This record gives sequence, C-alpha cells and structure tokens, in this order.
Amino acid sequence: MQEWKNVLLRGSDTKQREKYWGKFQKEEAKIQTTAESLINVMPASEARSMVEEFLKSHREMGVAYRAGFKAFVDAGFDAAAGDKAVKGIDRAPTTLLEKAAATIALAGTAFAAEEKLFYENREDIPEQYRWDLSHIFADVDAWEAASASVEAKLPELEAFRGRLGESADVMVEATKLLYGTVRTIEDIYVYASHWQSTDTRSADANTYVGRAQALYAKFGQAIAFFEPEIVQLPEATISGYLEDPRLKTYDHVLDNILRTKAHTRSQEVEELLAGSALLQSSPGQTYGFLTNADIEWPTVKDETGEDKKVIPGLYYTFMSSQDRRVRKDAALALFGTYDKYGNTFSGTYNGLVQKDVWMAKNRHYPSTLEMVLDRDNIPRSVVETLVGAVHDNLDAVHQYIDLRKKVLGLDDFHIYDLYVSTVPAAKSTYTFDEGWAMAMEFWKETFGEEYAAVAERGRKERWIDVYPNEGKDGIAYSGGSYNSVPFLFLNWGGTLEDVSTLVHEMGHSIHSYLANQNQPYHDADYSLFVAEVGSVASESLFFEWMLERTTDPTERLALLNHRMNSIIGTFLRQIFFHEFEHAAHVMAEEGRPLTKESLGKAWGDLWLAYYGDAVTLDDEFKGGWARIPHFYRTYYVWKYATSFAAGEAIAGRFRAGDETAVQDYLETLKLGGSVYPMEAVMRAGVDMNDPDVIRAVMDRFRSIVAEMEEMLVKE
Ligand SMILES: [Zn+2]
Repeated sequence: MQEWKNVLLRGSDTKQREKYWGKFQKEEAKIQTTAESLINVMPASEARSMVEEFLKSHREMGVAYRAGFKAFVDAGFDAAAGDKAVKGIDRAPTTLLEKAAATIALAGTAFAAEEKLFYENREDIPEQYRWDLSHIFADVDAWEAASASVEAKLPELEAFRGRLGESADVMVEATKLLYGTVRTIEDIYVYASHWQSTDTRSADANTYVGRAQALYAKFGQAIAFFEPEIVQLPEATISGYLEDPRLKTYDHVLDNILRTKAHTRSQEVEELLAGSALLQSSPGQTYGFLTNADIEWPTVKDETGEDKKVIPGLYYTFMSSQDRRVRKDAALALFGTYDKYGNTFSGTYNGLVQKDVWMAKNRHYPSTLEMVLDRDNIPRSVVETLVGAVHDNLDAVHQYIDLRKKVLGLDDFHIYDLYVSTVPAAKSTYTFDEGWAMAMEFWKETFGEEYAAVAERGRKERWIDVYPNEGKDGIAYSGGSYNSVPFLFLNWGGTLEDVSTLVHEMGHSIHSYLANQNQPYHDADYSLFVAEVGSVASESLFFEWMLERTTDPTERLALLNHRMNSIIGTFLRQIFFHEFEHAAHVMAEEGRPLTKESLGKAWGDLWLAYYGDAVTLDDEFKGGWARIPHFYRTYYVWKYATSFAAGEAIAGRFRAGDETAVQDYLETLKLGGSVYPMEAVMRAGVDMNDPDVIRAVMDRFRSIVAEMEEMLVKE
C-alpha cells in the first residue's frame, strides 16, 4: 500500500510514477503467487476456502487499482481521483486474510516457516519482534540529560516547603513541578529497568537501574513535606483551591490525602515515623540476603540422575516433574532447608509484623489490615466476604484433590503431588504471528475495533518484545511510562499458554493505554486492586472463545487445565496466603509470640483446611510460608484474588450476552486511577461486597473440575 501512496504522491514525475507503479505490480504478483502455492499445499479445509476467497478478492482489488491508476493519470495526476477509484477496496481482502490466518492458527497446521524460539544474540532477532525503547529515550545520552534535569529540579521542589498555603498560584506551580518531575523519573526508571530485562547480565543496565532508584529516593525526600503540609492547611484554603480551575483537576488526589487526615500525626511524630524508614525495610532486606545469597541450597538428582540445585526459583519446575521421586526429593530438600533456618526466618518475619502493628497503632488504626485497606479506601467487609465465600466452597478444592489422586493413581497425596500436570501435553504449537492472528480475531470479535486498533498500533510501533535471548529475564509483564507506551515483555515459546499470556499482558497494556489517553498524569495510575481486572477478564473470555473453537479432546483438556491453574494460582493460592499473613498479624496484635512453631502451625492448619484430609502433611512443609517473598509486602496478595474475581465477573457479563458489557468494560479501563478502586469496578457492574462475585469463580472452578473428571476418569 506504501507503493500506491508513493504513486499518488510522486506520480506527476514520470520516472517516479513508473518506478512505484512497477513496485506496486511486483508486490501484487508476489502475493498472488504466494496465495496460489499456499492453496496447492493446503488440504481441503475452511482455511483453504478462505485463502481462495482472499485470492479472488485480491484479484478484484488489482482490477480496481488499475482503474484507479488510469483515473489518476487521466485527471492530470490528481491524487483524489486515484483514491476515489480504490476507496474501501482493501477492506474485503484484508479481513479475509486476517480470518484465514486465524483459522490456520486455530487448526494448528504448520504452514508458516520454522520459528526460531531462542536467540544467542539479541541483535539476531528480527527487528519487528524486539521492542523499541526509543519511545522513551533515543539513547543513553538522552537518559543522562533527563536525569540531570531532574537533579536540577529537586532543590526547586524543596523550596516550596512551608509555602503551599500561600496562594493558589503557588500551589499550581508546586504541583506542576512535582508531577512534571516524577513523570520524567518514571521515564528514567522504565528505560533502565526495561533495558535490564532484556539483558540481566549487563553491568551497565544494573548501574542505570540503581541510579534511577536513587533518583526516586532523592525525589521522595525532597517532597516528603508535601502531604503533611496539605493535611495541615485550613479547610477554607483547600476549598478555595478547588474552586480554581487550574487546581480542580487535583480533586481526587486531594480527597485521597484529606480522607486519611485522622491518621496523619503532628509534624514532629510524622518526622519520627519517616525517620524509621530504613529500619522498616530491614526485615525484607534480611529475608532477601538470606534466601538469595547466604543459604546454600541443597542438591538432588534429577530424572536423568544428574545433580541439580534446588533453589526457590525452580520450585514449580521441580514440582511439575512427572517423576514422583524427583518431586519428593526436591520438595523435602527445599522445605527441609527452610525448616533448618526456621528460627531466623520467623525472627525476620516477626520484625516485619511487629513494625506493621507498631505503625498501625501510631496512626490510630484498629488493626494493620484496616491501615492497609484504607490506602485504597476499601472497607474491611470486602476482604471478609472474599475469605468467607472461599471457605464456604472449599469442598470444591477437596474434590479437585480427589481427582488428582485418582488420575495420578496415588494412595497417599503429598504436597509435592499438587502441581504436576494430569493432562497430556497439547499438540498444537503456534508461531508468534499465528498466535497474534488468533488474538487479533478474538479482540475484534469480543471487544470491538477500538480495542483491536490499540493492539494493532502496539504491534506496528513495536511495543512488544517477543522472543527469549541469552540473558533475557524469563518472565512476562506489561509496563511503560505515562510519557511513552505500555510495552509488553514476553518470552514466546509457541504454546497455547504463550498465546494466553499475550492476551493477558495485552489486557494490561490496553488498560494502561486507555487510562493514559483519558486521564491526566496524576489520575492515570491504577491500584493493584483493579490492575488484574482488565487482563483477567480478557484472558477468561479468550479461554471460552478457544473452547468454542476446539474440537480435539486433548486440546480441550489442555485448555481446561490451563484455566484451572490460573484460578488456583491467581485466586485460591493468594487467598490462602492472605489468611496466613492475617493470622500472623492477629497473633502479634493479640500479643502472642511469632515463632517457628506458632507460624508453622498456622501454615499447616491452613494446608489441611484448604486441601482436606486427603493430604498427608510432611513435617518439613510447616516451614513453607518462608518461601513466599510477597509476605514482605504487607496485605498485598489478596488484591490479586479480588481483581481476579472482578475480572471473571465482567467476563460473565460478556458471556451472558449483556450488550452494555463492552462499553462498561472500556469505560472502566479508561478511568485509570481517577476514582477509588471499588467505584472503578462498580462502573463495570461488579460489586465487590457481593459474595456472589466470589462464588461465581468457585462455581466455574467446580464445573471445570467436573468436566475434567468426566474426560479423565471416564474409562
Ligand atoms: Zn497480570
């Protein structure tokens, strides 16, 4: 199409016209030959008839373009005349081509060239599969310049100390400077950390990340006065500010600061509390050093008899071994080590919990839980509803354990039997382009053109880092800065899981994109409470969409298994974790000691409650809580579960054929952080106080277990 544009643009010059028109015709012939040879090798199928249809409409398109070319020349090289003749003519072949690509991908037929899934050198990855960080900075020099500009602004920011009550003008200047500065720091940090993701071995990248973090810390110190000072302002001053059109935009930010006024202490106390920051981070730091550096993790023999080190990061890899001996050895070795250092782990965690309890007391909160919930303005009842509704349905989890026991043929069930796959591996593999075509079809059908267009733009503008390379971090995420774009970081491996990850991460990226497009910087960022809503709803709908299109029983089982694993991992397991940290905090609040024994008992009791009497609890597992680094982010994990449930509930509205579901969903994404999380979810039609929202997830879990049982145990 580029060639056609060039014909119209430069066609008044004979030489240029002939050059581009020649190129256009060559391109056209190439597409025809490719489609023809594709048809020759394809078996008779829905996909083949689509390609045939495409070929036909592509030929018709060629006729129209030739007429357009003639009209253009006849009209004395008038581009408008040429355009008029071909207007809308590409639509049919383009749609057909996309449909055909998706159908081919769904059929799992490998027509595409062999895909390379790992690269020694990142530079060898074709450019269109590498993300383009120049969306943030052109190069490291630009990064340095931005960093220097931030350094220069910090004293300017500090100069506003004690002046926020002076006048609306001063307040406008201060907030502008504050948000302008932190926006740039965000760019600085994202550029460095994204670079680090693509090469974790790079000492340069590590240094830049360290410098970005230091800049954040300096900024934090420079603006520490901001919130306490606002809280101290007379109400009349604040309401005066809010009448000023330049400050009205900060109403939600201000409301959030003033809402918690009762928990902000005097300047003197606040300074004391702020001064304890480094002390407060000590337990988490000690935990990190202990697990990542000091502990010598044990070695076990793998399936082939080779020695393998059991580090915490490989836990799930070991637990997915089909060889039960390997699973058992690895689990006992790993948990035995946590147990061996049990006193140190408990002492360290006790430090964190006591810090939380102390802070909640100082801030006049009835408990740590209430203090943490207040940050997101969430009532305690939401968490209680969540936990209660799951507890009422734990028999579904017990059924699931029974099923695993049956399929694995076990007499006794141990925790190391919990994660190994019970279904045969899926047969289909997908190249990234095939996976993309499928996802694109899904996005268009489910969320419509607006959503699909953003994804398309992401692909064109290279937001996505697709393939693994030597040194690249092995995770998947979505992340960017307000000023740039919401990048996607993948490690494409060609499985169904990878297609699902693409859909999930794109859910986050489009959430961020829509929030950034529709909100000013200070209202764009959304809380973890809503962060998974968009991605989970999208992933859930994709799963149903795939199920509808899958006839092969092995594929169907793989899909069901994948879906069940995400309910367990993102929902059930997180509530389990939440219950443990809540038990620990309650113990501390009631003055009971946190020890290796008391924490071990709390963990063991939860295991038995969640997984039922059918599970044999090995003694070593009582130290299993020490494996979870998230416990050093107090009351963080349960938000995954609510976010997941809300996402499922929204997906449920789509499934029920609710016509306003798409609109509400997109509107919620566009809200970003401009309203409190409970309200954002409410706008999508989901009330997190309603136990039915949680029950629906458990019902889905139940129905999947039942169907898998039917398929796996029927003979
Ligand atoms: Zn996610």
